[in-house]
Amino acid sequence: MIRLEEGAIAMITKTFKDIAAWVNGEVVESGDNTLEVAGVSTDTRTIQQGNLYIPIVGENFNGHDFVRAAVENGASGALWQKSQPNPPEDVPLIYVEDTLLALQDLAKNYLDYLPAKVVGITGSNGKTTTKDMVTSVLATTYKVQKTEGNYNNHIGLPLTILRLEEDTEIAVLEMGMSGRGEIELLSTIAKPEAAIITNIGESHLQDLGSREGISEAKFEITVGLKENGTLVIHGDEPLLTEKVVNSPFKVITFGSSERNDYYSVHVQQKSNGTYFKINGEEDIEFFIPVLGKHNINNALSAIALAKQFDVSIPNIKKGLESIKITGMRTELIQGKSGVAVINDAYNASPTSMRAAIQLLQDLKDYGKKIVVLGDMLELGDEEETFHYEVGKGIDPSKINYVFTFGELGRKIAEGAKVNFSGEQVFAYDDKQALITKLKEVVEEGDIVLIKGSRGMKLEEVVHALT
Ligand code: ATP
Ligand code: MG
Repeated sequence: MIRLEEGAIAMITKTFKDIAAWVNGEVVESGDNTLEVAGVSTDTRTIQQGNLYIPIVGENFNGHDFVRAAVENGASGALWQKSQPNPPEDVPLIYVEDTLLALQDLAKNYLDYLPAKVVGITGSNGKTTTKDMVTSVLATTYKVQKTEGNYNNHIGLPLTILRLEEDTEIAVLEMGMSGRGEIELLSTIAKPEAAIITNIGESHLQDLGSREGISEAKFEITVGLKENGTLVIHGDEPLLTEKVVNSPFKVITFGSSERNDYYSVHVQQKSNGTYFKINGEEDIEFFIPVLGKHNINNALSAIALAKQFDVSIPNIKKGLESIKITGMRTELIQGKSGVAVINDAYNASPTSMRAAIQLLQDLKDYGKKIVVLGDMLELGDEEETFHYEVGKGIDPSKINYVFTFGELGRKIAEGAKVNFSGEQVFAYDDKQALITKLKEVVEEGDIVLIKGSRGMKLEEVVHALT
């Protein structure tokens, strides 16, 4: 057995024979059935000593071309898809019909063998943040492992599972998607004990046609949910609540309205984070070191879930206070020359953009408030309307300037001009020109929100100010 750190038993550790049985494969005739693998990898660049290399046939690369490199870098052996020509004769191989399915089967079987329970998290926005919060809270009481970074798809999720240590009690897994059937697949692999649907937004509208379609796709998380499992949903979203009427699961709702099982009261946004209380427990004040009402929702879902796992309120409080959020999500940075920057350049959809603007509008104790908003990509036919509406929704009594970047960003500027004067709204296609103008406008004490889709690379504007 390989030991990663003191006491921790590293990831899946099995013989070739066990692996072959789990993936329905055959060990090459001359192969050694007792050969042991420790962990799996699909990437020869990060492969570790003893890993089983799983070559995936992708759009741009075929992993089978790198089997030899994998072994040179330490792999103990590899899977091999039968239809692929020229298998290397001197590498220990397990033959399978399909390496991707084998990876998923391996994860499924490994998880069945482990005692760990699974919490699955999906939704249009806030999956990673919620995953980080849930993990921090559960980790006060259990041994918990979570999806690293954004490893949330049909390859990332099985890899995450195969990294679980044998004594892990709860695995918190993020489940992402870009179309129908994907969450169902992930849920069937992971068979969660409890699932959270953070919200329904507009991301992937292009592929799914309507918000109803998006909701259906997120709801696929219930396909693999265990009998008597718990389903935690955003109760202010009718597209979710209508689906849980007569649900066979234990349904718990959270949100800002009082019809939810969990809602927040006495909310205070401070520059270091957010203080709030929850209904029914008003003697306890929670604190999260992140900003924005949307993050209260994420925290409420974590609280609801933690209570299902019998985590005590003091531990929940402690867990929320110490959350570590994966970078670039609504991050407040104190920049050069006393300008504060809210860096939310990681991604954007209308829901998350409105949430971020609302957050800036709610903040007190700053000089001028400025938004720098870029294109929101992949919104489908109505993309221009979505941008226009976001712009129109910005409150000129709370925001001083609106900067936009990109072609669709221009529509945000057009919408903003309904309520703002022409001297307060600037639309750019050239990032450098935007930065130059922005620097003219900002002064000490001001705060700037920077947000757009990942592809717009607005972190360059963040760096220019910080
Ligand atoms: P991805 O699909 O890229 O994996 P994600 O669902 O994991 O995204 P996060 O990375 O947690 O989402 O957050 C991305 C952005 O979404 C945040 O920076 C924030 O602006 C916004 N956001 C987070 N939580 C919510 C929420 N509950 N409701 C609306 N917007 C949110
Ligand atoms: Mg994510």
